[in-house]
Amino acid sequence: MKITYSIIAPIYNELDNLPELYRRIKDVMDSSGEPWELILVDDGSTDGSTDRIRELAKQDERVRPVIFARNFGHQIAITAGWDYSRGEAVVIIDADLQDPPEVILDLAKKWKEGYEVVYAVRAEREGETWFKKFTAAMFYRIIYRITDVKIPVDTGDFRLMDRKVVDVLKQMRERHRFPRGMSAWVGFKQIGVEYKRAARLSGVTKYPFRKMLLLALNAITSFSYFPLQVATFFGFVSAGIAILAIPVVVYLRMAGIPQFTGQATTLIAVLFLGGVQLISLGILGEYIGRLYDEAKGRPLYIVRDAPESKNENEGG
Ligand code: UDP
Ligand code: MG
Repeated sequence: MKITYSIIAPIYNELDNLPELYRRIKDVMDSSGEPWELILVDDGSTDGSTDRIRELAKQDERVRPVIFARNFGHQIAITAGWDYSRGEAVVIIDADLQDPPEVILDLAKKWKEGYEVVYAVRAEREGETWFKKFTAAMFYRIIYRITDVKIPVDTGDFRLMDRKVVDVLKQMRERHRFPRGMSAWVGFKQIGVEYKRAARLSGVTKYPFRKMLLLALNAITSFSYFPLQVATFFGFVSAGIAILAIPVVVYLRMAGIPQFTGQATTLIAVLFLGGVQLISLGILGEYIGRLYDEAKGRPLYIVRDAPESKNENEGG
């Protein structure tokens, strides 16, 4: 039987959310009247989510578990979901029910109208601290400004993509990935649908500030050379100032006018330049480290347990 919808939910310690996630997705997808599958990617959970996922899969064969050997991160879990999906339309959804499964039907409606990427835009978000909302808002806007791809603002990974798009994304095996950027990069007919992002059903966020920063760094380095260009810019500015300063200093010396006295000026100039140089080195390091990771060519993820038929649509 041909599967219309593949729903992908990355799971990292979401034990208490799993039953409700399954129930709501089942209700919504059954009401669509079309065949669907739910791919639960267990990203190295340690709270017993893994066993719960296996139980769900035993009860309902439409639930397909992909169990990672360890925690690989949200973005990689999504990628595994793409790899194992068989549906004509592929939906990514968070497991904590912040993205209401009911919205999938709205996304599907646009897909039926012919759009190939339908992303869900967070018009409102509930139950999150002002700090999270503020940093998230900044994040989306900075990324929008400096990356070469126009990644829609206030949009997470919650989206529906046509099989054509997913087949392209599956070929993009970069290690440090930003799925929402990748899905903007591929092009195709895209549209946003607004929704109200709910509060987390249970548990705490798995995205502490440190991980958000890392995600931001991946987003920026994957889609722009902006940080490198900033280093070049500072180089030109300091060199420019130095060139202008040479005749001034020579003139002052010749005219016998007392120059900048003391070492403070020199010290500040040296420290400033030293700082700029070290920061530039660090930026270079970020890119080189990513290059090195790519060069190693390790697999993106390791599965302990996964459904047999990867990538193939059974029957017809
Ligand atoms: N997640 C994951 N691996 C991780 C961190 C998170 O698979 O290393 C999953 C998590 O279980 C959830 C989704 O990614 O389904 C989004 O995470 P979370 O809700 O904690 O992020 P937030 O909504 O707070 O940004
Ligand atoms: Mg969440």
